[in-house]
Amino acid sequence: MILRQIYLNGKVITMNSKVPEATAFEIIGDRFWAVGSDDEIRKMADDQAEVVDLAGKTVVPGLIESHNHMSIYATTMLQADCSPNANQSIEDVKIQIRELADRTKADHWVKGWGYDDTLISDNRHLTRADLDEVSKQRPIFILHVSAHLAYVNSKALEITDVGPQTPQPDGGEIHKDENGVPTGLLLEPGAINLVGQHIPSYTVSEFKEVLPKAIRHYHQFGITGTHDAAIGYGGEAGEVCRAYRELEAEGILNLRVYLTIVEEQYQRLFELGLGTGFGSNFLKLGGVKLFQDGSIQALTAALTDGYLNKPDLKGDLILSQEVLNDLVEKYHSAGLQIAVHANGDRAIESVLQALERAQHLRPRGDHRHMLIHCQLASDDHIRRMKKLGVIPSYFVNHVYYWGDRHASLFLGPERAQRIDPLGSSMKEGLMFSLHSDLPVTPVDPIFSIHNAVNRTTRSGELLGPAERISVFEALKTYTINAAYCSFEESIKGSIEEGKLADFAVLSENPLTVESGAIKDIRVEATTVGGRLVYGSY
Ligand SMILES: [Zn+2]
Repeated sequence: MILRQIYLNGKVITMNSKVPEATAFEIIGDRFWAVGSDDEIRKMADDQAEVVDLAGKTVVPGLIESHNHMSIYATTMLQADCSPNANQSIEDVKIQIRELADRTKADHWVKGWGYDDTLISDNRHLTRADLDEVSKQRPIFILHVSAHLAYVNSKALEITDVGPQTPQPDGGEIHKDENGVPTGLLLEPGAINLVGQHIPSYTVSEFKEVLPKAIRHYHQFGITGTHDAAIGYGGEAGEVCRAYRELEAEGILNLRVYLTIVEEQYQRLFELGLGTGFGSNFLKLGGVKLFQDGSIQALTAALTDGYLNKPDLKGDLILSQEVLNDLVEKYHSAGLQIAVHANGDRAIESVLQALERAQHLRPRGDHRHMLIHCQLASDDHIRRMKKLGVIPSYFVNHVYYWGDRHASLFLGPERAQRIDPLGSSMKEGLMFSLHSDLPVTPVDPIFSIHNAVNRTTRSGELLGPAERISVFEALKTYTINAAYCSFEESIKGSIEEGKLADFAVLSENPLTVESGAIKDIRVEATTVGGRLVYGSY
């Protein structure tokens, strides 16, 4: 029997500009059927319909995370937690890795995630020697919180034949000591993959074990849709895609997933004629993912002017302009969406030049190419993105998590004020989304919205007041704008007749609560396609 539900007595923030507010709605099957006042909707109630009293609670469209790494996050459940949340010192990190190593079969890799050299009391990178103290028998691979650096022990270097003789790879660096011996630190995909390519992928069944747990985690934060970005980054894309497909076939996939896939792996789909938009309302193929620099706190973002703490260092572009131009032209001409990772202003400039060139050669009306993170976009970049129809997805959580260190350590106060220029983008009328980049920062759209509205750093400083935006605009970035990023604004992103019945019930109304208290709003229930997946009404 088709599900029929009537929801009454709510404060419904619809994000539909034609009917911005409502108190009630009707759902038939997996869609909103009618949205309006209690009186209008109550008339539709009959014996067949389930009636839910929202008790004055606030309802928002299901929240959509437009850049994060859900499948990578899921696999962290199988790894040592090396993040500052779980550890204060390198000694603590070693204990975490040792506990996992003790549970790991002798010839298997021991993996860890989330290490942050700037937030650990030792204030330095891990070394091969640190990890050798944990184990010399088992290979160890630890990913930095930025995912742009990794640390390995001697066994890992030995197995993968990376040593003093290994030449520096394109798009990366094997950090070596004064004698030319690798220290265990690997920078950027070019170097990380020298080791990473030898680590067996997680199996389909391992992904199927941990993905539902990750999805439950997302539901707790009101998330009903996500871009799982850069599938294939440092590993095989096949297992994760197959796991998602099987979960969908088994009726277990109850979060809408849009897959962006790294270019090396996308080529195979491209050859088969598959592309952006292929799939279902639960599992859809997204765009091609490219990388043009690293991260600011890893000192690998490509800047125009040097880093504050290392003025001679400006960070490298990952791809030469010619290679980037060719790749962008290829996928742009084929009608596919392209999402490029670029943090530093020099990387953003390079990506915009490639996109402008492709658009000039092969004009396309509705490509919706995305610039991911886009933290140091200048006013000129913003104007050019607007002109080109490029959507930046800003990594606004940086203001809270790294804002203090961007000001004092990496960028200096002037450039730090400008990171994630939301206010400047609003002024220019440029549409954008926001994201958490989980597992880089926690996935919690309410907290990201709080950061966009308040721009308060960890130490309580206000960083870049001119770049703050209103709560309503911040909410747009996680609903209708995020739906636009996947060409799905006609089926989701607002509470509107005919759209998928995805929504979240909140403990408070973000539009009326005091701005400093937005982060304290809890998600009380999450519904996907008319089905309650978390909490209660
Ligand atoms: Zn990312």
